[in-house]
Amino acid sequence: MLSKEKVLVLKEMEKTIHAILQKIDKENEEFIRSLGLDKKQNKILLKALDNFEKQIQVLFIKQKKEYLAAVARLPEYMKKNHKKVGRTVKKAAVPEVLIDNIAEIMAGFIFANEKAYIDKLAALYVAFTNSFFGQIAEICARSVEGSRLGPEMSLTKKATDWLDQHKIKFAQEVNQTTHDAVIKSLKESLGEGKGNNPAGNKLVSDVPNHFNQSKVKEKEKKLEALTDPEKYNTVYQAVEQQQCFEFYRARRIARTETISAMNAATLEGWRQSEVIGGKEWACACDKVSREWHKNADGQQVPLEEPFIVGGEKLMHPGDSSMGASAKNVIHCRCTMKSVLKYKMRR
Ligand SMILES: [Zn+2]
Repeated sequence: MLSKEKVLVLKEMEKTIHAILQKIDKENEEFIRSLGLDKKQNKILLKALDNFEKQIQVLFIKQKKEYLAAVARLPEYMKKNHKKVGRTVKKAAVPEVLIDNIAEIMAGFIFANEKAYIDKLAALYVAFTNSFFGQIAEICARSVEGSRLGPEMSLTKKATDWLDQHKIKFAQEVNQTTHDAVIKSLKESLGEGKGNNPAGNKLVSDVPNHFNQSKVKEKEKKLEALTDPEKYNTVYQAVEQQQCFEFYRARRIARTETISAMNAATLEGWRQSEVIGGKEWACACDKVSREWHKNADGQQVPLEEPFIVGGEKLMHPGDSSMGASAKNVIHCRCTMKSVLKYKMRR
């Protein structure tokens, strides 16, 4: 049964989706302008970014709504699966394990449709890159003096492979972060009360004594508590307050991916011009730029070879296809300059 309060929360989220779709954001405009591209590129990228950010936000809100509805049904679910829950409770030797095991059972129920979200994220990424990748690549190819690009342009296998590979990586990583964040909230809300949930839900907070006694009867009492809807209020709150669904995460993801795919498209354009021999890392270089990227500023490499940044290989800023870590790509605003074949310093 959903309480009145919980129904209100879910209804409120429905309204937020409409508000997001209507919102036009000036901040993204400034962000795109800060990349120093030409007017036509700015326009194409801004539209793609705005749209992608909104789509991700909408997905997060829907996902959160679905997960909250599942959390509200948890007591019912735990009751139905009392044998499985019972085995878990009896098996756990220490409270930490009990919390982990119970959270795992809950997660199995809450994340039952997770695969659909991964697919949806991948589809969003495809729509996002379809809306600008080819165009940006062509602008870059044609803007090179002496470009040998013919009247028609189609993407090379290198570019389509990168897009295919990154689509999957993107969808899995975004989803995994959401998954881990929700699990973390579940565990915190089941425990003594840490992080976002200082109160805890006392579901297993007095377990230590009881574990020392190791009395099966006592453990079974805990089991009863696990089907009490009242006990789930803090679990619900913990998921409701989970920041992984917030707009700023959607924004950070959309911006990171915009720069990353824009750089991949730029590289593809230069590749197809046939007169560009190399690329130079251009750091956005301001007070928020990371030290690694400041050091990479001016680094020149052949077009089809990776930059080495912080000891990691990147084909372009924002590229993780060669194993660059998240901290090397998230929120990066670096771009590249082209180097003509004959000007390459080697
Ligand atoms: Zn950077």
